[in-house]
Amino acid sequence: MESKFHITKTNHSRINETDFENLKFGTVFSDHMFEADFKDGEWSKGVIRPLENLSFHPAMVALHYGQSIFEGMKAFKNVDGEPVLFRPELHAQRLNKSAARLCMPDFPEQEFVEALKALVDVDRKWISDVEGASLYIRPFMFASESFLGVRAATEYKLLIFTMPVNKYYDHPVSLIAEEKYVRAAEGGVGEAKASGNYAASLLPAKLAKEKGFDQALWLDGKEFKYIQEVGTMNIFFVIDGVVVTPATDGAILKGITRKSLIEICKDMDISVEERKISIDELIEAGKDGKIDEVFGAGTAAVVSHVNRMKLRDYEINFEIKEDGISKKLKKQLTNIRTGKVEDKFNWVVPVPSAILV
Ligand SMILES: *Cc1c(COP(=O)(O)O)cnc(C)c1O
Repeated sequence: MESKFHITKTNHSRINETDFENLKFGTVFSDHMFEADFKDGEWSKGVIRPLENLSFHPAMVALHYGQSIFEGMKAFKNVDGEPVLFRPELHAQRLNKSAARLCMPDFPEQEFVEALKALVDVDRKWISDVEGASLYIRPFMFASESFLGVRAATEYKLLIFTMPVNKYYDHPVSLIAEEKYVRAAEGGVGEAKASGNYAASLLPAKLAKEKGFDQALWLDGKEFKYIQEVGTMNIFFVIDGVVVTPATDGAILKGITRKSLIEICKDMDISVEERKISIDELIEAGKDGKIDEVFGAGTAAVVSHVNRMKLRDYEINFEIKEDGISKKLKKQLTNIRTGKVEDKFNWVVPVPSAILV
């Protein structure tokens, strides 16, 4: 099968200089990137070419007014050693939802999935055989027009690059409920994977660290009462044997891991609820000894166990249970992603190998 995109392969692959045993997240990039440009009301035919620096005009809109969104996903090797994607069509849909909120153009979803497949195929050797290795995929779109003024840009760029990553180091995290700053408010851009949401979270994250906690636990922007999520993860609680996660309210990012875990719970007959969870309910449940587990859910870690949580003046510690629900869910999702258990939901999409000349 020939790729539908024009592919220029690098003559200087960096793969042999790469130490796959010691990858520092975010610093090692594979050889190629996908690029498409939006101009005069339409997207150019995408190309795959060597990853390199880009040049831009100082008045590029994205830098001044923040029209910039991204996605984050992973390609894994399945038990047969073939690369696979996990629910790529949901990432395509979410990219377009983020784009719509920031007045950016739609990118055709089928084309997006084809681009992911072609790019992962070209750099398939970058998924090493180290246990738990994967390729982190970073698609992003930004306003590339040079123009100073507050209106939606007329030119955009969509890029996708990938990074080899190792098994996510699974250390438990501590959280502190943030009572002064908000990540996102209803009606804002919290549901979009907008770059600026992260810029806004840096200061509260730094303050949480200074207080001795790994991350801020975000509360709603109106009453500082309802739990939203954590930095880059959605949040789950196991209260009295029931898995509960805040219902999405327009301010919470709709995580694909979150959605998948809810579906797995239903499939495994684990009671699961999406609803409002107030900080008062949590404090009370904690005091009554009813919070069994707390965990974050996101692409990077799948499930990240929480071992300490501060809610106003109340602090609670958790033992990480080896036979707990969160470990069970993590195992099931990981096994579906790598083909160790049957993918009855059809979540896993193989990356076909093109015959490249
Ligand atoms: C990306 C992201 C998540 C997790 O989403 P996944 O699709 O599961 O990776 C959660 N919260 C925020 C704020 C995010 O940006």
